[in-house]
Amino acid sequence: MKKLLRVDMANLKVNIEDVPSEYAGLGGRALTSTIVNKEVPPTCDPIGRHNKLVIAPGLLAGTGAPCSERLSIGAKSPLTGGIKESNSGGTAALKLARLDIAAVVVEGVPEDRPDADNFHVLKIENDKCFLEEARDLAGQGNYTVCERLHKKYGERVSITSIGQAGEMRLAGSTVAGSDMEGMPNRHAGRGGMGAVMGSKGLKAIVIDDTGAHAVQPKDKEAFTKAARDFVKALRECKGFIEQLRTCGTPGGIPNFNAFGTLPTRNFSAGCYEHAEKIQGAAIVEIAKSRGAKMHSCSPSCPIRCSVIYHDASHKFLVGGVEYETVAMLGSNLLISDVDAIALMNRLLNDCGLDTIETGAALGVVMESGLIKFGDSESAIELIKEVAKGTIRGRMIGSGAAVTGKILGVKRVPAVKGQSLPAHHPQSNKIVGVTYCTSPMGADHTAGIMYDQTVHNPEGKVEKSRNMQIQMGFVDSLGMCMFSSRGPAGYNDFMTRLMTALNGKPYTEADLIELGKRVLRTEHDFNKRAGFTKAHDRLPEFMTEIKIKPHDLVFDVPYDEVDKLYDGI
Ligand code: SF4
Repeated sequence: MKKLLRVDMANLKVNIEDVPSEYAGLGGRALTSTIVNKEVPPTCDPIGRHNKLVIAPGLLAGTGAPCSERLSIGAKSPLTGGIKESNSGGTAALKLARLDIAAVVVEGVPEDRPDADNFHVLKIENDKCFLEEARDLAGQGNYTVCERLHKKYGERVSITSIGQAGEMRLAGSTVAGSDMEGMPNRHAGRGGMGAVMGSKGLKAIVIDDTGAHAVQPKDKEAFTKAARDFVKALRECKGFIEQLRTCGTPGGIPNFNAFGTLPTRNFSAGCYEHAEKIQGAAIVEIAKSRGAKMHSCSPSCPIRCSVIYHDASHKFLVGGVEYETVAMLGSNLLISDVDAIALMNRLLNDCGLDTIETGAALGVVMESGLIKFGDSESAIELIKEVAKGTIRGRMIGSGAAVTGKILGVKRVPAVKGQSLPAHHPQSNKIVGVTYCTSPMGADHTAGIMYDQTVHNPEGKVEKSRNMQIQMGFVDSLGMCMFSSRGPAGYNDFMTRLMTALNGKPYTEADLIELGKRVLRTEHDFNKRAGFTKAHDRLPEFMTEIKIKPHDLVFDVPYDEVDKLYDGI
């Protein structure tokens, strides 16, 4: 029987339960969203005692299936006020699954303890779980936290932590996860999950799976065969997967620049004149010339798209230099210096802030004129202020929408309080519909695709709906979304794996129903939190002011957008 860990941060107690029947058979996003919808009052204060932070590996985690180790983190979002699930790579999902833990539910807040005593570390082991004081870690960034905890508990443990931004409960803060090298480079970045963790006084979770065993599928032979076939298909994949393997996620920049979806100068354009300087091939060339490499962000991935980056003196700087980070801190700010972008990436990983949200907030700051576009030195200095807790640092740490309000800026790229990621919706209207309608706020991982029709408004609601349903089940299985964009017959691979895992038939219809169930659950929470169709809108300037290079506005009619949930 799988276990559910309830961590009471008001009384510093950990309780281990069997997974209740109403949550049985769920994993990843399906489980985090179901628990949040059932147990969190939708109108509660996101950083108050009634919110819960739910952490869950996907259904396929721990099985050895390729790309199956995303960790879902869910709560009511301090950024959007709606439900949130944010997932990341790293090593925690594998270890939780091996320990037979379906979810960790962190509840309550340390109301009676002074700030200095607030922070604790949760230690999860094979036969026991407990909380320890973390006074020495309070006020520290993620890299120091990781280093100290590895020193104390050994290199094998997985670490999930928050930086100073999470401690300060800033709405743009992340939850960091240690990667294959034990560094806090993988982040559940979106929606302010770090602020929820910080509000509960939980600085880190250390998972030690010594003595645990791999998840045993009911039909081991069929599972191994399906997993091998899927690995082979991924390895033989050309196109997008090959581009990921050779140039990482920033490998998409030339295409996005041509489509006009590369956010540039605070989303006022969709193409950047220096795009070739920040594209994946250029970044990987610099990285390799300094002795760095590509690696996988989690144990079972054969694609290995993550770029490790060293500074000019060949010292490790940051791992996982991703497209969204490069675009939001690069073209969006008119910065083409890869070293400067990587340094900002490192600083944000350390203090635990979302690179997408902060890149958008910095774009808004530059739009206000406080810092000039292209001024990387001032942007770096401003990011450094976050860890120091200055008012300016806390402003950008609170996200683009808050920054826009404080500075009186009109061009603020956000939906439901969350900044747009790095796919301009005026040129990709599928993702534009997703930004409007996803219960997650503007989030490309909730449903994105590119095809030759992305500029055209017709048929985009249906495409967005289908992608949102797909991401609902992909996130629940714990699969990396990139693995779903390569081999033909992806759903067939997933149904073979799930059938062999459970020892009973699992069909494509079951996958689709799982995805729909996730969306219905999340939509229900948001409706009860007070969201209406009026919130499902892009910023007005995106429907009115054309952008280069294709002179497009977002023109999918809103009466069509409003039908997205029909049939779900
Ligand atoms: S494809 Fe990239 S992001 Fe996905 S699991 Fe592999 S290394 Fe991580």
